[in-house]
Amino acid sequence: METQETIEMFDKYVIANYSRLPKVIVKGKGCYIYDADGNEILDMFPGWAVSGIGHCHPKVVEALKSQAEQLLHIDNTFYSEPQGILAKLLSERAFGGKSFFCNSGAEANEAALKLARLYTAPEKYKFITAEGSFHGRTFATVTATAQPKYHEGFRPLLPGFVYVPYNDIEALEAAFDDEVAAVMVEPIQGEGGINIASDEYLATIRRLCDENGAVMILDEVQTGIGRTGKWFGYQHSDVEPDIITMAKTLGGGVAIGAMMGKEEVAAALVPGKHASTFGGNCLACAAAIAVIEAIDEEGMLQTAVELGEYTRGKLNELKEKYSIIEEVRGVGLMIGVELSQSGSEIVSKCLAKGLRINCTHETVIRFMPPMIATKEQIDTAIEILDNVLAESGK
Ligand SMILES: *Cc1c(COP(=O)(O)O)cnc(C)c1O
Repeated sequence: METQETIEMFDKYVIANYSRLPKVIVKGKGCYIYDADGNEILDMFPGWAVSGIGHCHPKVVEALKSQAEQLLHIDNTFYSEPQGILAKLLSERAFGGKSFFCNSGAEANEAALKLARLYTAPEKYKFITAEGSFHGRTFATVTATAQPKYHEGFRPLLPGFVYVPYNDIEALEAAFDDEVAAVMVEPIQGEGGINIASDEYLATIRRLCDENGAVMILDEVQTGIGRTGKWFGYQHSDVEPDIITMAKTLGGGVAIGAMMGKEEVAAALVPGKHASTFGGNCLACAAAIAVIEAIDEEGMLQTAVELGEYTRGKLNELKEKYSIIEEVRGVGLMIGVELSQSGSEIVSKCLAKGLRINCTHETVIRFMPPMIATKEQIDTAIEILDNVLAESGK
């Protein structure tokens, strides 16, 4: 099909709630995507981190094929093997918790908020979240998302949410009282522009939650499953949360979300309180199992550490050359480049030269290379960005 034909179909039949780039992607392999006109694009922002281990990873494709021939979906009226195995693999890689499965990041956070209410009811009901956060688009998670631009047109939002500046210990202490059911933050804010929580901040959340009987929830939807060089972002600190949520990279491209809670907290989620028809289906769980095995077998956590350092080094070299670059920050392969002006034009110029990156929070260029990328591919990406910055006279 011609690119124009596809776009016309969208104009006619698909709700226009996304601003899309005028390209139709028809194929993905490793660090590359291919458009309908046959162009190859180096993808340094694969599916918003969904394809975190690269597009169509062969182990994931193989697992999907073989599971598809066995059983695609069975409802949670029954037990199923892939869901149990996946929960075990996740538990072993986090704090020994128990998982609930759903189909997206927002749903995972929604489940976490509901669980925190159940666990702390009836005395407590408030949720503290941080400015600049992103937690999803359902009513509860968009309310948790403390950025006014996501709230416009949807008020009144869900009651009970309190917003504090991110990484601000005093503000957090001031906001706490014995009605707080949970604090939910990202260990590194993704959509908010790659802002990294300090160890002290996470430790303070832990202490205040312990002192007040509240639940500590970390939204690891973007940071989880290896992106930062550890299985979960919180593992860079000494702090252990009560609940983590994950999605994005977990399914290797297949829709899946998960919420993991410490056993004691998770026990509040009894039959009748929460559910998902598609949650934990065999196909999605088989994909996630393959993702976890691939990360282990191919040493991708180590790659994320080394390649992350390499990429930040290269970006810092560009910072010396171009005054528009103010700061390079990140952990592992979750990297932001803060600019002194809007980054959207740079992102589209890079795409025209065959490189996909992203711009968030207006001025932050985001690199989230696949965990299978090579130094040569990073070099290519940096070279393209270098050329774009040079041509723009920045
Ligand atoms: C993407 C994201 C979400 C929402 O996930 P969806 O799958 O789009 O619902 C929530 N939290 C964080 C940190 C995210 O990056």
